[in-house]
Amino acid sequence: MAGIYIHIPYCRQACNYCDFHFSTNLDSKSLLMECINQELVMQQEYLSKEPVSSIYFGGGTPSLMSSKELNATLETIANYYSLADNVEITIEANPENINDENLGHYYDEGINRLSLGVQSFNDRLLRYLNRVHSSSEAIASLECIEKSNINNYSLDLIFGISEDDHDIWAEDLDTAIAFKPNHLSLYNLTIEDSTVFGNWLKKGKIQLVSEEHSAEGYEYAHSLLTSKGYDHYEISNYCLPRHHSHHNTSYWNNEKYLGIGPGAHSFNVVSRQFNVNNNAKYIESIKSGEIAYSLETLTRSDKINEQIMTGLRTKWGCDLQALKDHFQFDLIKRRHSIIDELIRKNFMLINEEKLILTLPGQLIADHISSELMIEPLEPDLV
Ligand code: SF4
Repeated sequence: MAGIYIHIPYCRQACNYCDFHFSTNLDSKSLLMECINQELVMQQEYLSKEPVSSIYFGGGTPSLMSSKELNATLETIANYYSLADNVEITIEANPENINDENLGHYYDEGINRLSLGVQSFNDRLLRYLNRVHSSSEAIASLECIEKSNINNYSLDLIFGISEDDHDIWAEDLDTAIAFKPNHLSLYNLTIEDSTVFGNWLKKGKIQLVSEEHSAEGYEYAHSLLTSKGYDHYEISNYCLPRHHSHHNTSYWNNEKYLGIGPGAHSFNVVSRQFNVNNNAKYIESIKSGEIAYSLETLTRSDKINEQIMTGLRTKWGCDLQALKDHFQFDLIKRRHSIIDELIRKNFMLINEEKLILTLPGQLIADHISSELMIEPLEPDLV
């Protein structure tokens, strides 16, 4: 199975924490949407005709697409790609764009999953993040979704926004789960240099939230949501039984996916391809019949490291037998002293040939991955 990701690089305004590729100037939107359809045609061989089980409109703000634009892109996909019977079609949407008419249209187009960017239900925090919507708009959008035909949806929330936000975080989670979304993505606020927050941090206008504070927010959410029946299946993701995101799961399972649009990237097991992340350059290249991208051919060590990193983020863990079978690589033999120490400190465990992070381990997942990853020229021990 394979996936298609469509990047819609437009937003009404820039959120203070965001380092995704987007523009707040929508003048080129209809031209760029034409180019997206053209790129879909140009890339029709990329997935080698494998059935597509997930189509994901991400961004930016895909809910800024007009119904005509959405229809044209889905028709292009249907005409040039082979779709699995139960294809999951997700659109990321912001609360201010959700209304009965849009939801009815999404449903008519075959969209069967929404990913709603709520981030918080607290007006003070929403203003601080520079989100377009208010708390009441977020609630109204969820009420609207509840009575629509699309009952499969995910909700994004952010924690670790400020040192004094524990009460707000508890309220945000309570508000969210009262709607019983079947999927939740919870992100710890990170501050990247290129963002407004990054600039404020440099100027000393804001301070980083402590790791302890963020860890408490993470642990609180884990304990609350698992007690309500949610499966914590990936560090940032929770779902009710059988509602894992196909889109995310295909990334972690190393399945092929095709990324369309500026800034999107593709993976075909052998290499990764990164489209230019500039709207004007993207349009210019597609109009001249070419796709502007850079290519990274994956080495054996790249592939091993990706398996370690992505596997450890999930509840299924890093598959030690698969590393042996696919790469003749014995992670335990290679990193036994580090792994022994991590197990002794209760950061990880081994269960049925899988290396799995415990809750304390999840809090330092990036650090653990980097300890286990291999250097390109490390000698083979297998
Ligand atoms: S709406 Fe999403 S993509 Fe756009 S600026 Fe905000 S976080 Fe970034």
